Amino acid sequence: MINLSIQRALIICAHPDDETLGMGASWFKLQQQGVELGLVWFTDGAGARGDSSEADRKIAANKAKNYLAPSYFKWFDFPDNEMDTVSQLTVNKMIETAIDEFNPDSVFTHWSGDLNIDHKIVSTSVDVACRPLPNSPLKSVFQFEVLSSSEWSSECFKPNCYIDVQGFEQHKLNALKLYASELKDFPHPRSEQSVIAKMQIRGSECGVKSAESFVVKRVLI
Ligand SMILES: [Zn+2]
Repeated sequence: MINLSIQRALIICAHPDDETLGMGASWFKLQQQGVELGLVWFTDGAGARGDSSEADRKIAANKAKNYLAPSYFKWFDFPDNEMDTVSQLTVNKMIETAIDEFNPDSVFTHWSGDLNIDHKIVSTSVDVACRPLPNSPLKSVFQFEVLSSSEWSSECFKPNCYIDVQGFEQHKLNALKLYASELKDFPHPRSEQSVIAKMQIRGSECGVKSAESFVVKRVLI
């Protein structure tokens, strides 16, 4: 039997909350299975939550980070929704440094087709930093979807990999609730009901009750 083994996964996001929206339930499942998880945030997410002060956002993000309890954590201070004002080379180098420090076998990041400019830039830089190299411990790269960014793209997020997250849905909601004002009323795509519905739809695509989905960029088995 051949198994895909994930022991050290680095989750690289533009904003605090992207990891939870993209793979919050998978995060807790992987963690419970003993996978070491690292987390990188590039901005403070001000543009996504313009209705709260910077100090409040940072406090909320720190609470969520403590709940997620990553083994490795980096929080850069790039301008929110303006990462196109930073050179791609700078972002590439930040990611390369995080990969060198944490030494993951797997990386999870944004889908390259996302509407959000910061998501696109981080995804492209992950591609550069994770290019295949001889003898690299990095075997797999996955891209996740983020509600209210991925579905608004003119491209279609078409997953080819799923994580069964039955039993971990509430952890995702708990983490989302820690981000101040992140959860909206239904039918907003970032409502509790929509987040649950998305996991149910993704589950129905692969024969389970609840799942989070990914595009496989590269897997070496
Ligand atoms: Zn984001």
